[in-house]
Amino acid sequence: MAHLDPSRAEFWPQEDLQDLLETVRRVKRPADYDRLTRGWELACRAHEGQRRKTGEAYVHHPIAVAKTVASPRVDDDGIIAALLHDVVEDTVVSSEEIEAAFGPDVRQLVDGVTKLDVPESAGPTSSREAENLRRMLLAMARDFRVMLIKLSDRLHNLQTIHGQNPESQTKKANETLEVFAPLAARLGVWQLKWQLEDLAFKVLHPEEFRRISNLVAQSKEERDRELNAAMAILRTRLDERGLGHALLMGRTKHLFSIYNKMVKQDLAFEEILDLSALRILLNTPTECYVAMGVVHELWRPMQGKDMFFDYIGSPKPNGYQSIHTKVLGANGQTLEVQIRTHRMHEVAEFGVAAHWSYKEGRPAADTPAQFGQLRRQLDEISRQGSGREFLRDLSTDVFSDQVFVRTPKGDVIELPLDSTPIDFAFRIHTDLGLKTTGAKVNGTMVPLHTKLQNGDVVQLITRTGSSPSPDWLKFTKSRHARAKLKAYFRRRGQERNAADGRQAIVQELRRQGLDPRAMLSEENLAQIAAKMRGKISADLIFARVGEGLTSVHSVVQKLKELSPSAPPPPPLETLALVDAPPESGFAPSISGRLDNVLYRRGKCCLPIPGDEVAGYVSRGRGIILHRTICPNLLGIMEQEKERIQDLTWEAEPDGVFPVMVKITALDRDGLLHDVTACLAESKTGVLSAKVKTLPNTTAEFHFGLNIRDVRHLREVSARISRMADVISVTRLFGKA
Ligand code: MN
Repeated sequence: MAHLDPSRAEFWPQEDLQDLLETVRRVKRPADYDRLTRGWELACRAHEGQRRKTGEAYVHHPIAVAKTVASPRVDDDGIIAALLHDVVEDTVVSSEEIEAAFGPDVRQLVDGVTKLDVPESAGPTSSREAENLRRMLLAMARDFRVMLIKLSDRLHNLQTIHGQNPESQTKKANETLEVFAPLAARLGVWQLKWQLEDLAFKVLHPEEFRRISNLVAQSKEERDRELNAAMAILRTRLDERGLGHALLMGRTKHLFSIYNKMVKQDLAFEEILDLSALRILLNTPTECYVAMGVVHELWRPMQGKDMFFDYIGSPKPNGYQSIHTKVLGANGQTLEVQIRTHRMHEVAEFGVAAHWSYKEGRPAADTPAQFGQLRRQLDEISRQGSGREFLRDLSTDVFSDQVFVRTPKGDVIELPLDSTPIDFAFRIHTDLGLKTTGAKVNGTMVPLHTKLQNGDVVQLITRTGSSPSPDWLKFTKSRHARAKLKAYFRRRGQERNAADGRQAIVQELRRQGLDPRAMLSEENLAQIAAKMRGKISADLIFARVGEGLTSVHSVVQKLKELSPSAPPPPPLETLALVDAPPESGFAPSISGRLDNVLYRRGKCCLPIPGDEVAGYVSRGRGIILHRTICPNLLGIMEQEKERIQDLTWEAEPDGVFPVMVKITALDRDGLLHDVTACLAESKTGVLSAKVKTLPNTTAEFHFGLNIRDVRHLREVSARISRMADVISVTRLFGKA
């Protein structure tokens, strides 16, 4: 790049390239260095002229990420994708160009880390952020390299976070502790987890961070001296036993874990014993046991709980293997020694990465079940919840402390701590959870609320046709199982209510001498359902009745209205006064009208044009119009039949007549307003309105309406019936 003029040179950092290639060489992996260099060139070209908030050339960032990503198990494609991870998002270079230069695998990886952001139009910031995270985790779950690039990206962003404003620093640090560090831990990439935690810790608690790092630094010289002396003696003894090839390493606890230990266990800094540990790496497990013998000959093993673990003989369920032993050093100080093979070390440091076979682009045969499960869990959770819920599910079911149990076949199942056989059953399959009746743990029958322990072998006892008990919700731990249970109970509740509701309606129809089978036709039910709140399905009518949200009476009433053969409903209201006041006399346009005679509408039934009417020739107060179904008229007919005149009142060109209407509806805010608006729309005058709230969440409205004729009244009733929440509309006799 000698031809570059000096002003451009800073965007083509040669030292960074050498550094990266050196790192790749150090991890002893065959690599195509020319291709890696071309990846570097494209990154430099794309980001030329761009700077980060810290002021330095942008391209330093992707190169730093690529250096972190470079590890024994990550292929060239993974490293090149890391170099190009911000190119598509932030520069003019497209995915197509990347594919043309480096092939479809690199393109897919870059797309995996890029195409995650949700557009701003998608909603409020908080749910958008959760959605971003959801998409990111989904993409990460598909390819381990995407996870590694994202985690390394986050690491470098934290390392250079001083360029950001304090607010976004805090946000990034919190997100790191809540999502990225736990994810690194779940993947077993402890290296990254510790670094991420320490950097976030530094942002969130700068003073504590400074205090603890000072304390560690102060004691470092002494600890290093002791550690070096111990390593020298150990080296000699291992040599004598033919283990001269052993690799010895000293290690210091990371700051955030010291801080946590001090806070959680309320310890002073001086009380934390295992600040540093000595690690011995060997070739075979047998060599590890020989080395353990050497250590115990040299220093006295400490007695008590938590002083010795043989995870080589019995590995942790997540696959971790190592011997841990605490011994008393030469000067009486505590020394922790960890002994493992190189392969075990790789698994411990790089987690899932150690199991990733990049040649096939998928997990190698010896990958622990946990990666597959993590993918499945992330996938499942991201499909279900909305943003907020997703974050809650994530922290309860995925990032919480886990317990590892086994199926009788030996498959490892990972569950949140304190999980029960029910959680186990639902984790395997929903149907299994619903049919479970009992469980055996390690061959013994246990209650279903038993908390499972690491290593338990769980065998489920199921029976077809059995169903979950609501009690299960009291002890199931995982949000996954709880969600499935709740959905089941919601469904079952609806079915039961529907059965109860149907029975009540059938009984009422029979009581009234009606044929339930004919009345409850699909067509009738569909018509009623369409009129109910929220346009529900026919099945839901019964469920609502069963639940008491809709009365049996109102459904029966509607069924009768729909069935023309059914007898007319009996009058709902009782008698009012027969006499109309003199001023309400008028001259209706009726056939056979008598001149010079005043006509009045009976107050008891308030007839309107179009009604079947009859006239009662009163003594000195003109002729009073009654509806033929008016109970008063029926009474008069018995006693003064001769005073009744048959009349027809078809239409009244200009007149309007008061009619009383009762509306029954589910009570809700704004209902009165909605009904009034509906009346105004149909140009119906309102004379009076009264509301009565009934105890069963329904309300009754009594309206006095100015109605032209029967057609007008039918039209108004139909409009109101169609409104949400309205159960029935009834014309009243008189004013009652
Ligand atoms: Mn980046």
